[in-house]
Amino acid sequence: MKKLLSFLLVLGTLLVLAACGSSNSSEEEPAETSGDETETASNEVNLYTARHYDVDDELYKKFEEETGIKVNLIKGEADELLERIKREGDATQADLFLTADAGRLHRAKEDGILQSVSSDVLDEQIPANFQDEDQMWYGLTKRARVIMYDKEKIDPSELSTYEALTEDEWAGRVLIRSSENIYNQSLLASFIELNGEEEAKEWAAGMVENFARDPEGGDRDQAKAIAAGVGDVAIMNTYYFGQMLNSEDPEEVKVAESLDVFFPNQDTTGTHVNVSGAGVVKSAKNQENAIKLLEFLSAPEAQETFASVNYEYPVNEAVEPSELLQSWGDFKEQDISMSALGENNAKAILLFNEVGWK
Ligand code: FE
Repeated sequence: MKKLLSFLLVLGTLLVLAACGSSNSSEEEPAETSGDETETASNEVNLYTARHYDVDDELYKKFEEETGIKVNLIKGEADELLERIKREGDATQADLFLTADAGRLHRAKEDGILQSVSSDVLDEQIPANFQDEDQMWYGLTKRARVIMYDKEKIDPSELSTYEALTEDEWAGRVLIRSSENIYNQSLLASFIELNGEEEAKEWAAGMVENFARDPEGGDRDQAKAIAAGVGDVAIMNTYYFGQMLNSEDPEEVKVAESLDVFFPNQDTTGTHVNVSGAGVVKSAKNQENAIKLLEFLSAPEAQETFASVNYEYPVNEAVEPSELLQSWGDFKEQDISMSALGENNAKAILLFNEVGWK
């Protein structure tokens, strides 16, 4: 049954790709007649996105209505899309690459598939530390990687820092996913940036010591494991908590209602934050439209939507977080550039391997 399903999935994907391929090649033709003219006359933008939220699709629709620029979507898993853009080279149809995590955006930059773009609107809407240093990508939504705790068992006064979770009293009580996950790689990368490699490694080793179980599942599964009594605290991204509280699955709501958010390191280095973001592809044929879409997504209206519908923090400082996000409280963020998360990614992976974090 599983085999049949995956066969159907592959077949479906091939059909979709075939359909995209044929429509794209017919769109290419006019470009050969006069490059410059088609660039200004172009009425579309090809977005390769690893985000799969309904709210994103709604925003693209709104963008189409406002600008008349059609958004052609290619959805996929981040690393697959990245490989695809690399493989397609200059022939790629991709104009904009959108994905979660600064670490991954940095990978796209290192792979040479992005180009530097500048825009006064983007600079006004997105603070410098949420942009790539070379303006190859821009953060569009923000998320905090926090400590979630069981409200029945834990008093928040017992919590303080990420580092404190490595102390003896937390032995066998800490839940967090695998180190293969980019969110954790970026978390450790931030500690390398703030505290140096040695301390970062100590932290990772101390966490492994205190694991409630071998890492498994995604962020939501850590929350569920708290509710199931496997552990008492979990490290996870804030928007998952928002999604679970508002889930259609009553079990998820029940789990979420038994938990609360704790923002660690408020008296020290601040809580770890990361972004979802996008960069204009190096050989983009609709570069201007891609920039317009970036500007639209970082403008107040879209930023409010991300916050209220998907529980992500706005990067645009002119926008207030939604009511639910505000109810979790203000917090101090780590004061580092998102670029550092990518720059320290390889080191982070190495440290995880050294301490045996699966
Ligand atoms: Fe996520």
